[in-house]
Amino acid sequence: MNLPLLERYRQRLPIDEDTPIISLNEGDTPLIPLAGPPQAAQKGVKIFAKYEGLNPTGSFKDRGMTLAVSKAAQRKAKAVAAASTGNTAASAAAYGARAAMKAIVVLPAGYVAAGKVAQSLVHGASIVQVNGNFDDALRLVRELTENFPVTLVNSLNPFRIQGQKTLAFEVVDDLGRAPDYHALPVGNAGNITAHWMGYSELYQDEVIEQRPRMLGFQAAGAAPIVTGRPVDSPQTIATAIRIGNPASWQGAINARDESGGAIEAVSDEEILRAYHYLASREGIFVEPASAASLAGLWRWIRQGKIAEGSTVVITLTGHGLKDPGTAEREVRLPDPVDATLTALVKAAGL
Ligand SMILES: *Cc1c(COP(=O)(O)O)cnc(C)c1O
Repeated sequence: MNLPLLERYRQRLPIDEDTPIISLNEGDTPLIPLAGPPQAAQKGVKIFAKYEGLNPTGSFKDRGMTLAVSKAAQRKAKAVAAASTGNTAASAAAYGARAAMKAIVVLPAGYVAAGKVAQSLVHGASIVQVNGNFDDALRLVRELTENFPVTLVNSLNPFRIQGQKTLAFEVVDDLGRAPDYHALPVGNAGNITAHWMGYSELYQDEVIEQRPRMLGFQAAGAAPIVTGRPVDSPQTIATAIRIGNPASWQGAINARDESGGAIEAVSDEEILRAYHYLASREGIFVEPASAASLAGLWRWIRQGKIAEGSTVVITLTGHGLKDPGTAEREVRLPDPVDATLTALVKAAGL
């Protein structure tokens, strides 16, 4: 049986003997070498996917939530609250349930993928949908937690970032070194901040000799860090990164600049191309936001900006089953046929 994430990296995390460990066996996700894509193979680029969809609630949010809720439990908190594009809500709901705490989640009405809403409800969270976007929801939750005895578990809670930095530790454990590049989607920008923190701590302690260049990708309709200005009404099919004013904006800039990396925008079309590729050619089903990492990396490879022989890790942040709506819009279920072999053979295209 594997240890809880917080036990495995105890010496690098802000916990002590009195911290109750609220765990669902998060982390320890696979680092899957991609079979393709051909253009990368041609250029000798090795791509590994850190498949965070295999966390207990289906996204990387669990890495931060296990620590945030454990620390809340240590302080005897009775309730946690988060604004969410969906996955933070699902994670807070699950870890809240585990810790016997009330979980309050505030969602932008109409823009949260169905699987995430279902999870949060079934875990017993109090769901509040607001007529507004994620940024409005976050502003409200900050006001709520400043005025009521409720612990904020958005990534503004420093324990979230601390927990999420373990992803970098696992990558280094698996590769035996840091990759040359690490690509990931950027929404509220907590995760790129956390990745960079993880690599930087290992670098300072001389566990690794170099840190990766960080490549962050926003959706073109929600790319405030790329344009340098908050976006009032962000739009993208990748709802997990539909954020116009990222809380960890400065953390993302630091990761980009200190690593010699980049933060760029990818279109919904590019995201969907990578989404289909990952599912139909690699066998890895992710939600659209996750595919932004590969979409962006493809562009870098096409432009010849990734040196031959490089090792690249992409973080695939969430599971494809989170967002059945996108899947249903993207593919078509054929009509039923007669229950005969002839009809089956024809329908199967044999
Ligand atoms: C939260 C989330 C993101 C964005 O991460 P940030 O830390 O907000 O930048 C990307 N993909 C998925 C699936 C997410 O749940």
